[in-house]
Amino acid sequence: MNTEILSGKGLAGLIRQRAGEEARLLDAAGVRPSLAVVVATADESTLWYVRSIERAAERAGIDCRILDLGQDATEQVLARVLTDLGSEPSVHGIILQTPLPEGVRGENLVGLIAPEKDIDGANPLSLGRLAVGQPAFAPATARSVVEILDHFEVPTAGRDVVVVGRSAVVGKPLSLLLLAKDATVTICHSRTGSLEPFTRSADVVVVAAGRTGLLTGSHVSEKTVVVDVGTNVLPDGSLVGDVDEASVTGVAAALTPVPGGVGSVTTALLLLHTVEAARQQSGVLGLSLAAGVA
Ligand code: NAP
Repeated sequence: MNTEILSGKGLAGLIRQRAGEEARLLDAAGVRPSLAVVVATADESTLWYVRSIERAAERAGIDCRILDLGQDATEQVLARVLTDLGSEPSVHGIILQTPLPEGVRGENLVGLIAPEKDIDGANPLSLGRLAVGQPAFAPATARSVVEILDHFEVPTAGRDVVVVGRSAVVGKPLSLLLLAKDATVTICHSRTGSLEPFTRSADVVVVAAGRTGLLTGSHVSEKTVVVDVGTNVLPDGSLVGDVDEASVTGVAAALTPVPGGVGSVTTALLLLHTVEAARQQSGVLGLSLAAGVA
């Protein structure tokens, strides 16, 4: 079996290009799309990730403000900043970056992100809207999986899709998006007895658990398309997913790589969501960007 590698890089480039075109249209109409990223950590890999969003945004013609409140920021300060950004007309998109300082309850903060600016679908209201089919921004990672499947023409309607992971940022919203695309969705988690009976018979398996080597060749069959959402940093600093690539390669039909798969599309979608938010808030008509689920 020749396992096809589904790289996200080409799709990410297309999405960034669309975001850039849309940003130029808005700019010409006097609206400069703008994204605010609220950060309160000294974690180097997080800061590196935030700077990569900033660079990508600027290349696409989107203003990006990093509000670095430091690792000692309190919940009250973070709450005030998020509330202020919500009423700031020049800001169209808001991301509250994790991890947050110890003792800060993220669940109390995400609800303060203005829903129309919630471009990474963190506010529970966004998840609720997705659940009932109302317009909302899905978490970019969840949408990224769906966009990758669409891009590579992997059918989901009427197919069996297994999602491993049930977090509010990946597994749950992704399951809702797949359900909206008429997939038969099974959600597995840490209390699922054995993954194998579910994953081996599935057409598509999405793994979002944050566990190195969780999905192996024995979990898949020759028809399985595997999407690896996991990002795990090994002691030597290298990045791997949740899939044991060596044993799945040659058994499954297709596999997304890590890095260069879901993650690259996710960053591009944050830009696309920002210009979509700017267009909605300004009332300026744009390209037909409402494609997808956001
Ligand atoms: P999370 O909040 O820790 O959730 C992990 C989920 O996986 C939980 O539902 C957990 O089950 C389940 N799980 C853990 N161990 C399992 C096992 N042995 N078997 C089956 N299920 C298991 O993580 P997350 O925020 O959803 O992120 C998941 C992964 O995606 C992480 O590696 C994260 O770094 C990565 N990620 C990538 C991107 C990207 O853009 N590429 C973005 C976001 C996250 P329980 O609910 O029972 O605990």
